[in-house]
Amino acid sequence: MYTLRQYAVRFHRRQPVAAGPFVEFASPKHHVCFSTTPLYASASNIISRVGIVGAGPSGFYVAKYLLKELGPGATVDVMDSLPTPFGLVRTGVAPDHPEVKAVQSDFEKVAGDPRFSFYGNVRVGYDVDVATLRSLYDVLVLAYGASEDRTLGIPGEDTLEGVVSARTFVNWYNGHPDYAQDAKLTGMLGEILAQASAQVAVLGQGNVALDCARVLAKRPADLETSDICEHALVVLRESKLAAVSVVGRRGHGQAAFTIKELRELSRIPGARLVVPPEEVARGLTEFTIAELAQSRPRKRLADLVASLPGPAVGGQAGEGGERVVALRFLLLPRAFLPDPRRPRRLGAVVFERARLELDGQGKRVVAVGTGETEELPCQLALRSIGYKSQPVDGLPFDNKKAVVPNRHGRVLEAASEEAVPVPGVYCTGWVKRGPSGIINTNIYDARETVAAIMEDAAQGKLPFSSSFSLLEVLAQAGRKKSEDVVSWEGYEKIDAWERRHGAARGKPREKVTDSHRLLEIARS
Ligand code: NAP
Repeated sequence: MYTLRQYAVRFHRRQPVAAGPFVEFASPKHHVCFSTTPLYASASNIISRVGIVGAGPSGFYVAKYLLKELGPGATVDVMDSLPTPFGLVRTGVAPDHPEVKAVQSDFEKVAGDPRFSFYGNVRVGYDVDVATLRSLYDVLVLAYGASEDRTLGIPGEDTLEGVVSARTFVNWYNGHPDYAQDAKLTGMLGEILAQASAQVAVLGQGNVALDCARVLAKRPADLETSDICEHALVVLRESKLAAVSVVGRRGHGQAAFTIKELRELSRIPGARLVVPPEEVARGLTEFTIAELAQSRPRKRLADLVASLPGPAVGGQAGEGGERVVALRFLLLPRAFLPDPRRPRRLGAVVFERARLELDGQGKRVVAVGTGETEELPCQLALRSIGYKSQPVDGLPFDNKKAVVPNRHGRVLEAASEEAVPVPGVYCTGWVKRGPSGIINTNIYDARETVAAIMEDAAQGKLPFSSSFSLLEVLAQAGRKKSEDVVSWEGYEKIDAWERRHGAARGKPREKVTDSHRLLEIARS
C-alpha cells in the first residue's frame, strides 16, 4: 500500500501504472506518446478507468454513452456527495411530475452494467481531492451540477427570516438531507404558512418558480400520492395560504417558464390563476410584438398569459378558501421589508415598476426602473432567479459565467479563448453549460463530451491512471471508512426500503431524509 505522498510522487512523475496500448510520458506542458499497438487500435481499449463526479442526470448520461464506447475491461466509477444517486431527479424534479422521474429506470439500467460502480457519500474536495482523482483515472468527468443559487443583492435578503431560496424550498420538500433535516427551516415554513391568509411571493418566472407555486397552491390531498416527503405534507396540510404571486422583472413575452407548466398552474383544483391585464398591456411593446411574431411557441405562451382572468374577476383573492396564484410582470425587486410587528421576519417585498427597453446592442429586451414603487405584503419570499455552480479546488473556474471553462466538454486551464485543455479532465451538464435546459438536454451534452473523450483517447492525449481503487485512496486519506461509502447494492437497499414504506402510505416511495439512517439502511 502506498501513502498518499508516495502516491502523489508517482503521479507527478507520470509513471505508467497500468498496462495499456500506449506508453506515455507527459508533463502538464509536454505530452509525448509512443504507440505500442497499431495506431488504428480502437480508442475504446485505451481508456481503462473513468471517474465521474456527480450521479445526477448529466453524470449518468455520460456514463451511459461512455459505457457504449468502452471495452469490457474498463471501469466507470460514479461518485456523489449524497448517499443516494440521481441528483435533481430525486431532489429537484417536482413530486407531482412522476413522468419526468421515469428517466430513473434508464439510469438503473446503466448502473446494472458490470463495469459501473457507485460511490455515494463521497465529497470531492473534502473526502478526496481533485489531484488524487486525476491520478486515479485516465478520464475524470465533472458532472456536479449547480449547488448554489444566484442572489439579488438587495436589503433584507440575508437578514430577514422568510426570505428563502427556491432551491432550499425544493430541496426541503424533496427530502435532500441537508434541508429536510433542518428543524429550524421546517419550523419557520410551518409557522409562516399556518398564519391566516398567508401570502407568498416567488421572485423569478422560470419553471422552478412555477414548481414552487404549484406545490404551495395545490390541496395537500392532491399531493399525498406523490413522493413528496411526509414532513413537507405535514406543513402543507396546516397551510392557510391565500395567495402566491409569481413575479417577473420583464414582461409576459419574456417569461422563462414553458407552456405545459403554465397550463398545469391554470388547472389546479381549488386555485385560480390570474394576471393583471394592465401589466400584460404594458409588456406588449413594439419590439416584444416583433419578437413574438418570430417564435410560435413564445407567441402561444404569451397568448395564454393574456387570456387569463384579471385579479378581480370572480370575487376577491382567497374567497371561499380558494387560493389565488397571480402572475405579476414588470416588477424589479428592490428590498425585503421587515414585518413591523416581528422585525426579524419578512413583511413585504418592495418592487420598482419597470418598463421594457432594448439593450445597448438592440438585441435583448431589458427591464428598466421607472422610479415608481409597489409594496407586496408577504410573509415568505422564494428567490427563484437561477442556480449557480461552485468551483472545485484544484481546477479552473469561470467566475463570470459560474461554469467550469471548457471547449466542447474539455476542461480548459483558464477561462479564455486561447486556453489549452487540462489533460484527461472533462465536464458535462450544468457545470459545463450553466443552469439551463431540461433533463434531456444532458443527452446532447453528454454525447458531445463523450465524443471529445474518445477523440482524445484515439490521439493519445489521455494521462495514465494508477491501479489504486477509490476506496483505497479514501481509506489512505483517513476521511472516510469504506462502510460509510454507499455502493450500488447499498443504494438498492435504500430504494427497496423507501418503496416499501411509500407503498404503506399509497405513495411511490417515502424518502429517507436522514444521512445516518440512509447509511444504516445501505449497510443492513
Ligand atoms: P430560469 O429558467 O433561468 O429562470 C430564472 C428566472 O429568474 C427568469 O424569470 C429571470 O428573468 C429571473 N431573474 C434572473 N435574475 C433576476 C434578477 N436579478 N431579478 C429578478 N429576476 C431575475 O431558471 P430556473 O427556473 O431556476 O430553471 C433552471 C432550468 O431548469 C431551466 O432551464 C428550467 O426550464 C429547468 N426546469 C425545468 C422544469 C420542467 O421542465 N418542468 C422544472 C424546473 C426547472 P430574466 O428572464 O429577466 O432574466
